Parts: sequence; structure tokens; C-alpha cells
Amino acid sequence: MPVPLWIAAKRDGGELPDDAIRTILEGAVAGRVPEYQLAALLMAIVWRGMSARELATWMDAMINSGDRLTLGDIAGRKVDKHSTGGVGDKVSICLAPLVAACGVPVPMMAGRALGHTGGTLDKLESIPGFRTDLDPAAFRRVLRRTGMVLAGQSRRLVPADRLLYALRDATATVESIPLIASSILSKKIAEGADALVMDVKVGSGAFLPGRTDARRLARTLVDLGGRSGLQVVALLTAMEQPLGREVGNASEIREAIEILRGGGPADTRALTVRLGAEMLLLGHAARDLADGTRLIEAAIGSGAGLDRLRRCVEAQGGDPRIVDDPTRLPRARFTGRIAASRSGVIARLDAGLIGRAATLLGAGRMSKEDTVDAAVGVTFHHKVGEAVTRGQPICTVAYNDPRRWNAARPLLVAACAVARGRPRRARLVLETLR
Ligand code: URA
Repeated sequence: MPVPLWIAAKRDGGELPDDAIRTILEGAVAGRVPEYQLAALLMAIVWRGMSARELATWMDAMINSGDRLTLGDIAGRKVDKHSTGGVGDKVSICLAPLVAACGVPVPMMAGRALGHTGGTLDKLESIPGFRTDLDPAAFRRVLRRTGMVLAGQSRRLVPADRLLYALRDATATVESIPLIASSILSKKIAEGADALVMDVKVGSGAFLPGRTDARRLARTLVDLGGRSGLQVVALLTAMEQPLGREVGNASEIREAIEILRGGGPADTRALTVRLGAEMLLLGHAARDLADGTRLIEAAIGSGAGLDRLRRCVEAQGGDPRIVDDPTRLPRARFTGRIAASRSGVIARLDAGLIGRAATLLGAGRMSKEDTVDAAVGVTFHHKVGEAVTRGQPICTVAYNDPRRWNAARPLLVAACAVARGRPRRARLVLETLR
């Protein structure tokens, strides 16, 4: 059947047969199905969803679009972590070295900026020379040598996700439980992980802001992963305000390094430690969460995590000197600021608007062909609940193009609210699904 008829069937609420799904995804990777047809199909899926059977077949077809690694020759349970997409979320960059330093191998296939959210790969590529496009042999080599690897999809590893991910980013087709679940799980199953900790974001900066949808996504990830031999634990975590104080690419690498040095913002550190403890449990390297917490904190205190990051940066072609001297990372030419319009307490830092502002500054892409500006970003001097006086800067914006700063500024002004009363302190980890 011609592809437009399958698109129409999905648009009208029908189910795609297994062979149609395989034909479409194989054809897409081979260049036989054009991107405009794929984009139309993705939009139909956003609206109509997928049945459990369609989702399982779609995910398998994505996995089978490239190689499937087996990592049995590397000792221990291989454990990965992924987030459903956040603003200021640099946790993977400090978490992977800490878990690796505790003896659990971390094969991490991460993502680029998606929609208004930042991407671990884009952040890592702000390190001069750092390569994320590893072929399967290089992926295994780095993992074996350093106990961790931070890479992306490639022509050989889940090429279907490489294609769909970039297309979804540019066509507003991210917000779909089956598309998010298949995108994440296909990478993790293809990379050969045994277990996965999922950070499912909830709040204005998340793709699915509501708790009910986030819980449905978490349940889909846990169940679908489990049926495919990947043990998944999912934590629902707050994404109402950016995580940490930095939103950008190079600036987030700097903040991740601060965490590994024992400093950094309290929320980012707490989430890193909690997710790390969960990963050590899944990796059978901790007795319980308290033991895992102690081990991760010890790896921060001893500098073992920082050392692991240095080794990984070097193994992936990056300049390891940035770990000890983050001033070597790119910096923007100009700075602007958003000041408090009144005295009071920060009541809201809307992560969704802030993520969109960062994308407009150049920290993400508006079209597939855009290049990311590693140097731009937003630094928050205050978090929700902290006091400010009128005229004090709430955030400083680093930019290279004044037109982009002009476009981003109104969003940042709208994102930051100051009020009189003290807001309720929000919890960071809301729920855990196993
Ligand atoms: N992360 C991914 O890898 N894919 C998505 O669709 C969302 C977050």
C-alpha cells in the first residue's frame, strides 16, 4: 500500500499493521520514504497515539534499523540513565562518571536538544574535540577503557531514531507517549544496557507537563522495557523551574563539573545523588538506597567522579584540560540581564518559557540544519523561594547575536515572577515506579 494511505489510516484513527510499520521505518532509513511523509505520519501519531502492539513493533523496527550491541564481555550489569527532557538538566554529565567510578559500567546513548529542552550531546560537544558520533567498535572501546561512554545515535546505532529525533525536533511532534517511549527505549536496548533509570519530568518544562500523563509515560517505559529484557525504574521529578542555575551548553558543562568538585546547586546535586543511588541498586553495587547514596557521595568527595569524566573526555577525543580549567569552554561575547521589577520572593521561573528563550538564543535548533551556539545561555542568580530586591538581576543572559537576545528577552521577562508571600517549597522527586 502506498505510504500516503497509511498516513491517512493513522490520521483517521486506524491501526498500522506490523509490515507497514517495518516498511515505513526501513524505507525512511534507506531514504525511500521522504521526510515530508514521515513528518505527516508523526503528526498523525501525536494526535491518534498507538496501540500496545503498534508501539512494540515500532520500537523493534527502530532497534533493528541498526546494530544491536551485546556487552556480555564487559563485567557487571550495564546501567544507563535517561531523562524525558528538561531545562538546565545536566545531570547525565556528572552522574555517569560517578556511577562508573563506583564500578557500574554506564553505556549512555544520549540525545540532542529536543523542542525547548537541552540535549546532553550538544552540551558535551561544547568541549573542544569531543566526539559523540561513535561507531559500535569505538563505543565498546571507550566503555571498556573508562567504564562509561557518552554517545549518540549514528548511522550504525539506531539510525531510525537519529532520523526521527531530528525530524520531531523541527516539526513539533515530540509530545507523544509512544514516540517518546520508543525513542528512548530503542537506544537503550540497542546499546546493550541491562537496566535503566528514567527521570520522567513533570511541570511546565516537561513535554508532558501534567502528572497523570507523566505517570502514563513512566508506566509505559517500565512495562515496555521490562517486556524487552531491560529493567526500568522511573522517577517522576519536578521540572517547573530549571534544574540548577545554568541553562545552555558550555555553561551546563561548567555546572556539572562544579557538582563533581563537591559544589554546585543543591537541587542538581540532590537529583544526581538520588539517581546515582538508584543506578547502583540496579547495578547490584549497593545494598539499598542509603548505601547507594553513601557510595555516590564518596565518589564526589574523593574526586573519583571528576577523574572518570577527565578520562572519558580524553577517550572521546575531547580536551581533558577543561575538567580542571572550565574557563577553556566557549564564552559568549555579550551579556544582558533580567532584573526584578519589584522586591519580594521569586514565585516562578517558568522552565518551559526559559527553555524556549534559550532555544531562541541559539542553545537549541529551530530547523534541522541549524547549528547550536555552545556559548549562549542563561545564568540564574536566584531560585524559586529566594528573596530579591527591586532592580537586582534575576538572571544574566549570555548571547552572541543581539537580534536573538531581543527575541528571547520577552519570554524571560514573562518567565520570571516575583511575589510577596513565600511560595510552597516543591519536592524534587515526586514518585517512583518500579
Ligand atoms: N529523549 C529521547 O531520547 N527521546 C524523546 O523522544 C524524548 C526524550
